[in-house]
Amino acid sequence: MSLVPEIATLSQFGTVLVVDDSHVQREHALALCLRLGAVAVEGVPDGHAALARVSQGPAPGLLIVDLEMPGMDGVQLLDALARCSVRVPIVVASQRGAALIDSVLQVGRANGLQVLAGLEKPLRAAELDAALQAHPQPLPAARHDAGAGDPTDAAMLQEALRRGDIEVAYQPKVDMRSGQVSGVEALARWRHPQNGQIAPDRFIALAEREGLIHALTASVADQAMARLATWKQSGFRLSLAINLSPCLLQDPGLLDELHSQLRRHGLVPADVILEITESSLVEASALGMLARLRLQGFGLSLDDYGTGFSSLQQLTRIPFTELKIDRIFVHDAHRSRNLRTVLESALGMAQRLGLSTVAEGIETVEDWQLLQELGCDLGQGYLLARPMGGGALTTWLLEHQTRLQEHGPTAAQAPHH
Ligand code: C2E
Ligand code: CA
Ligand code: CA
Repeated sequence: MSLVPEIATLSQFGTVLVVDDSHVQREHALALCLRLGAVAVEGVPDGHAALARVSQGPAPGLLIVDLEMPGMDGVQLLDALARCSVRVPIVVASQRGAALIDSVLQVGRANGLQVLAGLEKPLRAAELDAALQAHPQPLPAARHDAGAGDPTDAAMLQEALRRGDIEVAYQPKVDMRSGQVSGVEALARWRHPQNGQIAPDRFIALAEREGLIHALTASVADQAMARLATWKQSGFRLSLAINLSPCLLQDPGLLDELHSQLRRHGLVPADVILEITESSLVEASALGMLARLRLQGFGLSLDDYGTGFSSLQQLTRIPFTELKIDRIFVHDAHRSRNLRTVLESALGMAQRLGLSTVAEGIETVEDWQLLQELGCDLGQGYLLARPMGGGALTTWLLEHQTRLQEHGPTAAQAPHH
């Protein structure tokens, strides 16, 4: 009998690490990997052991991860791997149905993980082989990673902050029933002397790493509050959404700063909604800060919902006022039954928790109509308006008012740029 494996798909992956609490399933998977040509195989019973193994010396070349495990389960493990920017290819294997495996795949990929495939257990050689043969191109880096060869560095960003080159663009949020503008989101923009306008995906992570995010957020908040005060004086009733980086939730100076800014501009906490991304919530120490912010009257929005791994339980522990559904679930959702199911369940859950709902990334009339049909409260996206400077938004607000008076609520979804 030949010792050469029947198929050698796994030989290119180096060591394969199988994470599964069931001894039987684990042994089955390990044997199967060897048959498929794995150079070496190892097994661990839960997420904690897997994390320890991945962080200690030569990383495995492939992870096969079960979803349900005691201790740290597969979803928590993926979350932890994403945070550590682990780029090891992953195959998810579970006894749960294809729909659940599918949504875990989507979330994993949205978080920058290289999830190659999701398979139902028990693993079968032909399926694993097919999944690995179809091995997609390496995925783009996570959303907020500064790209290689970036022209931006910490000293330049610091200088930009000092010179006032970090500006604010505003994007309206529109009530999907009445068509009225309910608020604006403030989005940072870097006006670079040589490179023109730089998008936040290129400098927020840098600011976080280099200890500049506090100053950056303070600058954005200050400019946006000044603008909101002028809009209020002109009779617009708007809320102002500000994005908060997770690390600021550990920053004791943040609260005082926000309060003194509000006072300076004659505003109150209820004028402001703080948007916090879903991935930042697991840190227990952030909970206290979130509770204090809410008690003081700030609105709290869970941003990018669907791209993190928060559970329903986590949502109920934190006093959110708004759920913001990430655009990967919104744009073109009418084409996909899966996306529609995700949307329906997110909206239903938010409604049961008494949260208002915002769909971001509404780009087409079809997006708008589906979200409206599903009962989403607010919409935001290119169909309505792109982010723009404060002066331009003032003009847009006035024009929008006229459109509403002339055509009623449907005016909101008519493309106009
Ligand atoms: P975000 O909070 O999810 O903001 C929405 C992003 O989606 C914005 O990108 C906006 O321009 C974009 N967008 C709006 N409508 C559409 C649409 O219909 N289709 C598509 N494809 N995109 C749409 P932007 O301005 O480039 O900001 C990217 C991210 O940078 C933001 O994502 C936010 O996480 C972060 N960010 C921006 N400003 C700040 C800030 O002041 N502080 C912090 N911590 N993060 C910020
Ligand atoms: Ca946001
Ligand atoms: Ca978002």
